[in-house]
Amino acid sequence: MGLREVLEYLVTLQLSGRSNVVEALHAYFVDDGRESVAELARSYGLSKHQLRGLVQRILRKVPGPARASRARLYIQYLAPLVLRFVKPIIEPRDGYALCTLCKRTFTLDSTAITTHIHAMHRDVVEEHVDRIIGILKKCCRRQHLEKNLDELHDLQLAHTHIRAALNRVHSAIAYLSRTELRSEVERVNELLEELLRRIDSILSQFLPVELPSR
Ligand SMILES: [Zn+2]
Repeated sequence: MGLREVLEYLVTLQLSGRSNVVEALHAYFVDDGRESVAELARSYGLSKHQLRGLVQRILRKVPGPARASRARLYIQYLAPLVLRFVKPIIEPRDGYALCTLCKRTFTLDSTAITTHIHAMHRDVVEEHVDRIIGILKKCCRRQHLEKNLDELHDLQLAHTHIRAALNRVHSAIAYLSRTELRSEVERVNELLEELLRRIDSILSQFLPVELPSR
């Protein structure tokens, strides 16, 4: 399904005390296009290469074509819930990291932390994943999370196509009469408005989820 895998990954990051990474992924996928990847990464304490690697890991977990827009949709809903509901179990101490559940210690930023969480605290990961999926399902009036996400995804794609059509009309502006042009643009605009209304109606079935302030 993809959604569960992405959620597991975000939950593990958050349990590891790497909420900056969850926030960076949210900023990358959802608030894209405002800053360069390097600037965005830096503002979350990461390098450009680290952020690119993390983004690739998310994309590999999402199946099918148009995975970028699907990943965006998942991150948009999952990251705020993970940041709000998952409390880290790995905490930084004076120069090392401590697992508050079993008191094991690690060097800071050790890759062994993720392995430890998966091996020793798998139940905690699963518990959070199930709980967050439960919250998401409750937020869907029709209780068909995946169907809604698929529908929304298709609408987003259609929206992109209409926008492309509109752009083609704009570039053909010199070859069309004013009346032809006006009716073409109006037709495309109507389609666009109708799609946006449908997208809004599906989005309104989700509980509004805000990213906690940093
Ligand atoms: Zn532990």
